[in-house]
Amino acid sequence: MNKKLYVISGSSGVGKGTVLKGFLKRNPDFMLSISCTTRKPRPGEQDGINYFFLAENEFKECIEKDKFLEWAEFAGNFYGTKKKYINECLEQGKDIILEIDTQGALQVKKRMPEAVLIFICPPSYETLETRLRGRHTEDEDTIKKRLLEAKIELERAKSFDYKIVNDNLEKAILELETVINKERNNA
Ligand code: 5GP
Repeated sequence: MNKKLYVISGSSGVGKGTVLKGFLKRNPDFMLSISCTTRKPRPGEQDGINYFFLAENEFKECIEKDKFLEWAEFAGNFYGTKKKYINECLEQGKDIILEIDTQGALQVKKRMPEAVLIFICPPSYETLETRLRGRHTEDEDTIKKRLLEAKIELERAKSFDYKIVNDNLEKAILELETVINKERNNA
């Protein structure tokens, strides 16, 4: 079976969004899944583009109706990937990338063992803390929660298919391209 689903995870502040953006710019035929979340939008984020922003009761209703391929609670908010969206993309024969946390990634692997899990790591835990504080988008309490999550995520990443260290953006993008091309050609 074709490996069409790629899951990218990485700790908050590791720069996975930037790596992915660089990859998608050079590989525009990939679809990036849009997740649902109960987190409040950050400045500049738009509903239906960055996320589908849902109220907690709406999110819970989707869980009850089994609408998610995977979902997780992360640093006090809910995040999930709708089954319908993913199935539609796969039916259209599109390669799809999910940018989700490690709990969600492992749920996807259970349901779709052909999915390829890729983890983007920081060069060190200290670099991660510096980057997370430097972006000034979260308060201290949120930063602490995210740093704690980062430790747990590094542990869960041990069962991922690939790890890419983001110590240099261009190198990380190239490594991601190499991994995905290899999987595409092997499919
Ligand atoms: P942020 O709030 O910084 O946008 O995302 C926080 C974490 O939630 C990140 O690790 C991100 O990858 C993860 N995330 C985003 N969407 C989803 C999703 O649909 N499911 C899961 N499990 N995690 C998600």
